[in-house]
Amino acid sequence: MPPTGDQLDGSKAAALVKEKIKAHTLMVFSKSYCPYCIRLKELFKTLNLEFEALELDLISGGSEIQHALHELSGQKTVPNVYIKGKHIGGSDDVTALHRDNKLLPLLEESHDFQYDVIVIGGGSGGLSAAKEAAALGRRVAVCDFVKPSPAGTTWGLGGTCVNVGCIPKKLMHHAALLGHHLKDAREYGWNVDSETVKHNWQTLKTAVQDHIGGLNWGYRVQLRDNNVKYLNAYAQFLSSNTVKTVNKRGKEEVITAQKFIIATGLRPRILDIPGSEFVITSDDLFSLSYCPGKTLCVGASYISLECGGFLAGIGLDVTVMVRSILLRGFDQQCAELIGKYMGNNGVKFQRHCVPTKIEKLKSSTEDTPGLYRVTSKSTDGNEHVEEYNTILMAIGREACTDDLGLETVGVLLDSKSKKLIGSEAEQTNIAHVYGIGDVLQDKPELTPVAIQAGRLLSRRLFGGQKELTDYSNIATTVFTPLEYGCIGLSEEEALAKYGAEDLEVYHSHFTPLEWTVPHREENACYAKLICVKSLKEKVVGFHILGDQAGEITQGFSVAMRCGATKADFDATIGIHPTSAEIFTTLDITKSSGKNALKTGC
Ligand code: FAD
Ligand code: NDP
Repeated sequence: MPPTGDQLDGSKAAALVKEKIKAHTLMVFSKSYCPYCIRLKELFKTLNLEFEALELDLISGGSEIQHALHELSGQKTVPNVYIKGKHIGGSDDVTALHRDNKLLPLLEESHDFQYDVIVIGGGSGGLSAAKEAAALGRRVAVCDFVKPSPAGTTWGLGGTCVNVGCIPKKLMHHAALLGHHLKDAREYGWNVDSETVKHNWQTLKTAVQDHIGGLNWGYRVQLRDNNVKYLNAYAQFLSSNTVKTVNKRGKEEVITAQKFIIATGLRPRILDIPGSEFVITSDDLFSLSYCPGKTLCVGASYISLECGGFLAGIGLDVTVMVRSILLRGFDQQCAELIGKYMGNNGVKFQRHCVPTKIEKLKSSTEDTPGLYRVTSKSTDGNEHVEEYNTILMAIGREACTDDLGLETVGVLLDSKSKKLIGSEAEQTNIAHVYGIGDVLQDKPELTPVAIQAGRLLSRRLFGGQKELTDYSNIATTVFTPLEYGCIGLSEEEALAKYGAEDLEVYHSHFTPLEWTVPHREENACYAKLICVKSLKEKVVGFHILGDQAGEITQGFSVAMRCGATKADFDATIGIHPTSAEIFTTLDITKSSGKNALKTGC
């Protein structure tokens, strides 16, 4: 029943108004037909705000209440809004507060901490969360500090992606592609003299590092422009709302916040074998002062294959040492096709083998690599010895949670991975501590994932929104340098989930038109759609191996999010002549056993 204003005199109406204002954090005196009131209540609903509305036109005594409101607030009209007992005003006043990101902070519990949120880690996830929280009007600090790698490399603001990950990797990948294009160019009529075409590592390294330097600076400016306090310091919890920060000069500062977002990412793992002090990791490679020369890449996942791929692409002698399979977790047919292509393009593979000992024969200098003897052991028990100039260890990455002081706060970690265990809303077991990006358990370790999670988390914490990060169907690409893009399930995962009977796999090898003139290998590229029969052939796995697979895959990921079926792919008219058009004409099923090699266009 609505409260009644029956027989309200002036003093009773005033008492009722005061009682309502006191009882409800967000109180709206409204009229049910008033468009301003309707719009304002809609805004509150969109922001998921709890509010009490008293519709003055639906109760008797409404005009006495409106009069009492006028006496109390000086405002004659509705809507008339009070927050925590304080008069805010009408529709325009509340809308302006919201526009300036000041409405939600008024409704939150007040606290005496220095910051509303401290973000630990200034990488892809941390920066995105910090900027969003600041844009929503919160007091934000970001602590970012890079501990030098064992080989002594360090870098600036922006985290792994910018400094020692996606960005330098993609630029060096492009350097490798240019090498291929230079070879192709001759067949296309360019007079490229093979004697004068040589790659220069120093030029590449300097150009890449200059670009990164610009990005580091840009991030600092963005934080300053967004009023985010940036501390280039290592953060460690002292108690539940307090962290100690230590900068590179050892200066300590203690800061407090109501909430914390941990986005400390991962660092490369190093194998504990004699001589492991002589190896480098991806943390060192992109800024190496000398050309790595003959290189051994240990590990067979993303990082090893990508680095091995571009090093071979710029003309170096590269061996990849594989303990078990290529690209664990990926579609194994595609992984093997990548291996075959890399093998045909100069990369050597040492399969079923792990290094056991490294000996230094010659130290590296500023401009020349060293020389190392690597002993390795195969699963068949055989020992191998080989000399390399550089050993790149790419055997996985470890969570940076060891000395964060999380035990002081009681935050739970996964016992094996040491990653944070979070809810679907990225909240840890400690309510005011959240985790995003690579450091969060069971999430794809990818930059756009960290960015999206950071942005949406801040919107939920400070913007009254509810949207969760959707971790499904995330597209990714491996740049080896032949690109492999995929979305959704591998064939192995699809088989485990749906069973062979319920799957139809459409596939085709292909040769990009541009490869024909320079006579590059035929049918090295491959397209595959994995469809579920009982779901009207919904596509649950998309795989492409070929030029520009990253660009192609990004577009198709929208179709996958929309639940595209094989019929949708078939009904789509292709763009000719492109590689991507193959997905509109896939008609060979694996179950038919027909040859999937392609001839002609
Ligand atoms: P990070 O970017 O790692 O940031 C964490 C930051 O926190 C770091 O700066 C760290 O120094 C700092 N930190 C740690 N502890 C503390 C502390 N206690 N106090 C203060 N600061 C601290 N992803 C893609 O999507 N595409 C790619 O092509 C791609 N290529 C990659 C290539 C390589 C070689 C590597 C290594 C990774 C690649 N990734 C790629 C993965 C991508 O880089 C990561 O997923 C992404 O950077 C994760 O972001 P993050 O914010 O979780 O952590
Ligand atoms: P992964 O953990 O994915 O792979 C580690 C590799 O090292 C595996 O091949 C593993 O072999 C091997 N390995 C592990 N331990 C040993 C050992 N003791 N001896 C020999 N080999 C060993 O790590 P990555 O570092 O490649 O990648 C980390 C993450 O970074 C990825 O999950 C990815 O999300 C992200 N990334 C994304 C990229 C992109 O989007 N293009 C590019 C690069 C990285 P085994 O299979 O036998 O266990």
